[in-house]
Amino acid sequence: VSGLLAYCRAGFEKELAAELDDIAADAGLIGFVRTEPNTGFAVFESFEPVPVSSLGEHTDWRKPVFARQLLPWFARVDDLPERDRATPIVEAVKATGQRFSGVVLETPDTDVAKQQSGFCKRFTEPLSKALEKAGRLRSSRTGLPQLHVLFTSPTTVWLASGLAGQCAPWPMGIPRLRMPSNAPSRSTLKLAEALMTLLSDQEREELMRAGQRAVDLGAAPGGWTWQLANRGLRVTAVDNGPLRDSVMATEMVEHVRADGFTWRPQRAVDWMVCDMVEQPSRIASLMAEWVATGKCRHTIFNLKLPMKRRLDAVEQCRILIQKRLASIGPYDLRIKQLYHDREEVTAYLALKR
Ligand code: SAM
Repeated sequence: VSGLLAYCRAGFEKELAAELDDIAADAGLIGFVRTEPNTGFAVFESFEPVPVSSLGEHTDWRKPVFARQLLPWFARVDDLPERDRATPIVEAVKATGQRFSGVVLETPDTDVAKQQSGFCKRFTEPLSKALEKAGRLRSSRTGLPQLHVLFTSPTTVWLASGLAGQCAPWPMGIPRLRMPSNAPSRSTLKLAEALMTLLSDQEREELMRAGQRAVDLGAAPGGWTWQLANRGLRVTAVDNGPLRDSVMATEMVEHVRADGFTWRPQRAVDWMVCDMVEQPSRIASLMAEWVATGKCRHTIFNLKLPMKRRLDAVEQCRILIQKRLASIGPYDLRIKQLYHDREEVTAYLALKR
């Protein structure tokens, strides 16, 4: 392996690069980060080849906030000939001696790079066949990693290895979610994605169940509330603004017109979610307060990051939460920029069970 490859929302390469640098330092890699603005990806190049086994947990895609995907990469192939792109890719794969369970062709998530996505679709089958012929694919061996082929231009690919459990399971690191027809706003997808991304399948099943009670701070027009109601939770939706009829029609929702910073429930709830547009530090302190005082067991919240120093702002929130919860007990804090997040990130916080 030659380093780390990660994908992000275009415009967040600098933040991603800084996170890759930290991960590389933790993993004991020596090298440098390569990134360009608005390309939707960043690369850490190690000076020395790295055995995959030495990377272990360091390549867990869940850790970096701004990475939609994180992979150990092993080759970059330039100057792919238009008539036969498969041969140089197969050769580079052969050179590693590695076998794969499947192959996924991707592009960074930018308008320019996505012009390659049609080609990627068409090229998947011929490339798979060529790899199979070379003995590099064993589709029956599910323990093997997937081969990720990232086209950063029509003639350049990065080859990387994605191990199930370590990397994001979705092509391009983007979970494809369909907009439910009766949900009031597209931001309903943000909470749906947060639940998919910040919790494991098992956690989602165990921690969020029909019949539970939830609070939504800053709920209007009701996308997040709708998402919770649709999963069978009874929701107190706190917002001075109006909720859409489709949300009230679920008959699972009580609308409270109040200030989300001062309002508290009479009894503890299972979930509190919060999408109020406010300074991240104020939101983080409020979330920590609810968890510390046992007002909610779990929380999912959004932090708006319109400022320049976004990583610093996220770090400041981590510190505020740490200060409030350190004396209470161990906790889980997971922060990610989701596909549906723009200049913002979404987080999960709870005391450890
Ligand atoms: N999650 C919502 C959805 O899916 O439809 C969208 C929420 S919107 C981004 C932010 C909301 O927070 C606005 O409706 C605003 O009225 C509300 N808000 C902002 N500050 C608030 C406060 N201090 N108390 C209650 N609501 C607040």
